[in-house]
Amino acid sequence: MISLQVQIAAYVFASILFILSLSGLSSQETAKKGVVYGIIGMIIAILSTLLGESINGYVYIIIAMVVASIIGIIVARRVEMTAMPELIALLHSFVGLAAVLVGFSTFIDPASIKLEGAEKSIHLVEIYIGILIGAITFTGSIIAWGKLTGKISSKPFVFKVKDILNVILVIAVIVLCVLFMQDNGDNAMIYLYIMTGIACIFGIMMVMSIGGADMPVVISMLNSLSGWTAAASGFMLGNDLLIVVGALVGSSGAILSIIMCKAMNRSFFSVISGGFGQEIKTGKKLEGKVKSINFEEAAEILNDAQSVIIVPGYGMAVAKAQYPVFEMVEKLKKQGKNVRFAIHPVAGRLPGHMNVLLAEANVPYDIVLEMDEINPDLPETDVAMVIGANDTVNPGAQEDMSSPIYGMPVVEVWKAKRVIVMKRSMAVGYAGVENPLFYKENTDMLYGDAKATIIKLNEGIK
Ligand code: NDP
Repeated sequence: MISLQVQIAAYVFASILFILSLSGLSSQETAKKGVVYGIIGMIIAILSTLLGESINGYVYIIIAMVVASIIGIIVARRVEMTAMPELIALLHSFVGLAAVLVGFSTFIDPASIKLEGAEKSIHLVEIYIGILIGAITFTGSIIAWGKLTGKISSKPFVFKVKDILNVILVIAVIVLCVLFMQDNGDNAMIYLYIMTGIACIFGIMMVMSIGGADMPVVISMLNSLSGWTAAASGFMLGNDLLIVVGALVGSSGAILSIIMCKAMNRSFFSVISGGFGQEIKTGKKLEGKVKSINFEEAAEILNDAQSVIIVPGYGMAVAKAQYPVFEMVEKLKKQGKNVRFAIHPVAGRLPGHMNVLLAEANVPYDIVLEMDEINPDLPETDVAMVIGANDTVNPGAQEDMSSPIYGMPVVEVWKAKRVIVMKRSMAVGYAGVENPLFYKENTDMLYGDAKATIIKLNEGIK
């Protein structure tokens, strides 16, 4: 057992470690250190909570921790890098569910029933808001998991009266809150049940109505919501550390959502309101000729080029092609060519996905550039090489006003003198939008699995 003072000191120390962890995670060079700070902070947080004065029932806690740790280790070891966003979405749903359960158990806790006056009102608001955010996070995250795994279509699900229904649900939640606060008898629990049901429906509708290309914003937004959910649980349980950590996750997730919105050129409001008032666009039907080349021809084009910009995408991650890609880069650099990478902020399936893969293959950071930094150089570039990217290099985002991704900033590969697109077929990307890039005069398709293709290509590079 530790005293309250020691526990508070431990909480402050853990909070500092979490802040250091977040700052470490903001750059690739310091990311590992950031993870270590986070782990130590979490160990201190768990131990100081468990050893606190009000904790009992250790047998149950230890059994739950052992079972959960075993499941966690197995899942984390098995998960592929490409499936990481799905796992994260699922974990967010657990935070939401936990907050709902904490809310209900706090409400029926004899200690909270004894509260009076303003203290009671504040406590009830904490419970109501905690359950509300938790339930939205729970169902929203499950739908996001479904969309990321492909179990639910990534296309936006929109019906005519959706916006009106959203407004009605919001009004119902406010009215129920007033009734819940005023109730002294048994009905309070019924109001909580109804509100939880409404929040669950709202979470489902919000994420269902979001189209494929907006999913990165949804994921970071759910990340933020899970943080606020944890903070709400902290208020309900009177746990300061949970409030601090929840606020850290909530605010950093919100900042990431805003950055993602900027990257997608979307308004934060329209995303969080589930595409409120938006029309569904389908894009122009594409016609024309698509040219393809073989490995020898592609290798020749690269041998003749002076400058090459490589644009990796989700396909490179699936194929695990980053290692042969780096080998190719080294070969080209030995020939004295200027070879660089262009990274779109939402390439792949999680923020920073491409940076992580390239760092894994030891690609030096100084040749990995952000989309905005490298776009102006594309018109002077001999070859733009697209490896398993699709939505992030779609010129329709600039040229076709009827395209669902119109207005989204993209890597302007078509401005290079020649473009080689490596993918297995003419299939669409995550947003489900046709890509006019494949029909451009200066584009050549090089079909096949990215890893196998690059290995063969490497044989032809001098
Ligand atoms: P896309 O999803 O647009 O396209 C990937 C392409 O890779 C596909 O068209 C596919 O074509 C090809 N591909 C798949 N497997 C292989 C393989 N083994 N070898 C070669 N090619 C392969 O990827 P982008 O990275 O360009 O765009 C990311 C998309 O994901 C955006 O729409 C973004 O909004 C969304 N998203 C991003 C998230 C994030 O946080 N970064 C989170 C959720 C969604 P084919 O089948 O013909 O090979």
